Amino acid sequence: TVRVRYAPSPTGHLHIGGARTALFNYLLARKAGGTYILRIEDTDQSRNVEHADEKFLENFKWLGLHWDEGPGVGGEYGPYSCMERLPVYNEYVNQLLEQGKAYYCYCTEEELEKEREEAMAQGQMPRYSGRCRSLTPDQKSAYEKEGRKKTIRFRVPDGKIIKFTDLVRGDMHFESDGIGDYVIVKSDGIPTYNFAVTIDDHLMKISHVIRGEEHLSNTPRQILIYDAFGWDKPQFAHVSLILNRDGKKLSKRDESIIQFIEQYRNLGYLPEAILNYLALLGWSPGGEQEIFSLEELVQAFSLDRVSKSGAIFDTEKLAWMNSHYIKQADLQRIVELAIPHLQQAGYIGETFDHSWVTKLVALHKEKMSYVAELPELAKQFFEDDLVYAGEAAEILQEEQVPVVVAAFLEKAKQMPEWTAGSIQLALKEIQKETGYKGRALFMTVRVAATGQVHGPDLNQSLELLGRERVITRLQNILV
Ligand code: GLU
Repeated sequence: TVRVRYAPSPTGHLHIGGARTALFNYLLARKAGGTYILRIEDTDQSRNVEHADEKFLENFKWLGLHWDEGPGVGGEYGPYSCMERLPVYNEYVNQLLEQGKAYYCYCTEEELEKEREEAMAQGQMPRYSGRCRSLTPDQKSAYEKEGRKKTIRFRVPDGKIIKFTDLVRGDMHFESDGIGDYVIVKSDGIPTYNFAVTIDDHLMKISHVIRGEEHLSNTPRQILIYDAFGWDKPQFAHVSLILNRDGKKLSKRDESIIQFIEQYRNLGYLPEAILNYLALLGWSPGGEQEIFSLEELVQAFSLDRVSKSGAIFDTEKLAWMNSHYIKQADLQRIVELAIPHLQQAGYIGETFDHSWVTKLVALHKEKMSYVAELPELAKQFFEDDLVYAGEAAEILQEEQVPVVVAAFLEKAKQMPEWTAGSIQLALKEIQKETGYKGRALFMTVRVAATGQVHGPDLNQSLELLGRERVITRLQNILV
């Protein structure tokens, strides 16, 4: 049976790469009718931020990849965060110590640093020399008396080839001689990632480990631990890196790309668009179809179509997909997302006319790539100091302008009601009366009333602007 896990280290932020890893795990589990587990890897205390778990989970929940076992859900194999599992790891560390497969190391940070520098100076890859591998009891007690801190290192067997078949990358092999004895328990008694992850994956009966390529070099270290215990190994799949537009590895500091899910969320991206986009980042369904619901992704997904080359993150494509999902989305859902953005822009207050805002959103729903764009797209509905610039200014120089504007002003004052329908009728009448039609008529009214040459449906825009505002604006044109 398929049991997979997504194992984030909580820094409070959910990275696009992590979200993609989570998605691939989810898809494999759902496709196989398996189990999808969320496990919080919080052993790196320096990286953990206060309330990071909660923030992380909040954003992760928002994405909509519901987990079957893990925080908040429970499950047979819990607890599901490493810091709650410390007693579990202890038992296994002791076993390795008793069997001589792990040992205490008393080296100080300075000593290790010196070793590293010497290796570098000789052009070698620095790795632990094994100084504490075979300390005598006397040496040990001397170190203990000195009060040195100790870590526990895994004794890496000499001269071994570590092989595995990666489900994405094919046959991999590593030489154990390239791997120095590595720390499995830090001096504060907390296990390292490589140790904890192996114990957890084993005890949680994980069948497939799907994770980012950056973990590829950790895999042989983990395999050595499986072997030390005589355990079966899961299958491994390392998903390629995400690249920036220049095809370079994405660093967390790269500002050419928005990298955190909560930033997309705050901008008014929809989770289904993000999931759809991330699925195609390094996986391909093999056809032309690009728009996939989560259910369709589950049906179509397979690990053998995950690519081993890096995937370029295409911000425009994501925006395009998001605009697709906004168009499809229920209007009220977009209205709810839009309200805080309009409030932040100072365009509406705490209380506002909900049906007016609904119409405004409806008018712009087809035009938005993400909801945070709305205040800019709709600013002519809020800002009265219209600046007639560029093409708009040129149009206002045209000969029909005074005639059309005066005629429309006349109608605007007299119309019994101010609706898109009645505005349309009024414009027809003006066409008959003045002889101006098409662009000369509609562009004039649009520019005069909105200051813009492009925009949503004219009649509806005018209705939404309101009669008084339109009259004021038209009067300003005539003076
Ligand atoms: N905590 C690791 C990370 O966030 C998980 C790696 C793994 O899946 O084994 O990258």
